[in-house]
Amino acid sequence: MMDIDLELVQSTVDQYADVMNRVSDHLWEHPEVGMEEAKSAEHVASVLEDAGFDVHRGVAGLPTAIMASYTSRAGEGSPVIGVAVEYDALAGLSQERVPFRKPRTKGAPGHGCGHNLIASAGLGAVLACKDLMQASGLPGTVRYYGCPAEESKIGKVVMVRQGLFDDVDAILSWHPGDDTSAQPLNYNAFDSARFTFEGTSAHAAGSPHEGHSALDAVELMNVGANYLREHIMPEARLHYITEHGGDDPNVVPHEASVLYYVRAPLRSDVTYIHDYLRDVAQGAAMMTRTNLLHQYLTGCRDFLFNRVLGRRLHKYLCEAQPPDYTESEMEFASELQASFSQRRRNEIVSRYGQRALVDQCFYDGVEPPREEASRGSGSADISEVSQVAPTAQFSTACAPLGTPGHSWQNAAVSGTSIGHKGTFYAARVIAATVMDLLTDRELLKQVKEEFARSRPDEAYVSPLDAEHWSGSPYA
Ligand SMILES: [Zn+2]
Repeated sequence: MMDIDLELVQSTVDQYADVMNRVSDHLWEHPEVGMEEAKSAEHVASVLEDAGFDVHRGVAGLPTAIMASYTSRAGEGSPVIGVAVEYDALAGLSQERVPFRKPRTKGAPGHGCGHNLIASAGLGAVLACKDLMQASGLPGTVRYYGCPAEESKIGKVVMVRQGLFDDVDAILSWHPGDDTSAQPLNYNAFDSARFTFEGTSAHAAGSPHEGHSALDAVELMNVGANYLREHIMPEARLHYITEHGGDDPNVVPHEASVLYYVRAPLRSDVTYIHDYLRDVAQGAAMMTRTNLLHQYLTGCRDFLFNRVLGRRLHKYLCEAQPPDYTESEMEFASELQASFSQRRRNEIVSRYGQRALVDQCFYDGVEPPREEASRGSGSADISEVSQVAPTAQFSTACAPLGTPGHSWQNAAVSGTSIGHKGTFYAARVIAATVMDLLTDRELLKQVKEEFARSRPDEAYVSPLDAEHWSGSPYA
């Protein structure tokens, strides 16, 4: 086995610091929600194209998905190591780079999950790997997957279904966080669906008895779903929004719709709860004599975290150059922390001590390795990739300790040098691990052996194709 030159990898990544900053700021300043990331995807694609990558836009039938590969020696493209990234923003989280709530544009989206940083770390890493492969003549392929609509779990699910990960040997994924860790983790499996009720409109005052309210059906379905909560497993999560509830109180609404997310540890748990929810919806339709239309949108499984890959990421998290913060960054961080709820501040103190709020603010070091996977109640569509290719994910601190996910605080910090510094650190770790996988065949062999052991016996079927569902708009 040949060791990689970590110093060389890091200095090559650091040459792309300006590119990473430009890309991450450009995306941050032009936030686009899932499936609408046209400018973000094009911005990233053009940087990759200029660097000599073979870029495919609109892959898997998704207009904002990209796949870009670089192979150093013609005919010697194996192994293929992929870096999966995201660039979607969140609705309503527009925010200036200030430690208090101030939208840039009221009501507009914002990068409240730091996906601008994800796109840029992946970019810095693959550009550096390309230079290193070119200089050394190392065979293999490094590939950048630009995956749309992570927040609604669409991009990677569709890309997996279209076979875009079939020839890949390993996939690395990174997410900005408030700590630094390559711990094995798992996410809840996921489904989303739209329930549309069709009733009969009528004059709400003059002849309400002639109407059948679709909004009543939505409300009764939600009441039923809220009663259902007590009788499903405690790890499950149900959330909904009323998407359309009619147009005018003066008219009995003839059409109304509600969007649901269902999450639970395993795919089979999600399917069970989703079926139950369909019965609840059907009950609401009967009560109101409306028609129910169920539209399955998308879904994904839980995460098969590759521990061999995870351990290698951990090694480079420990060895690579971590961020060093300036006084003004510390000040920004502590002002941001002051905006957290008292409950969250108490949590930070109980986990990390008073220093974490007073003179430290940032996560220090790397989470020590544990055997047991930590389970988040959220979901991520990287999980679907992990079912077809060896995959691991890690986090680096890009925000002060305790920064809530999907928040204006997260959006604010993702546009600052604090976010940038965590991004460089991540790019160094990604690049080092990619170079290791290209160089060390024994490592790749172990990664693949673990994958073969951990994957389910039955052949992969996309949630979008499951017999059970009537079809997704993205299938
Ligand atoms: Zn995210």
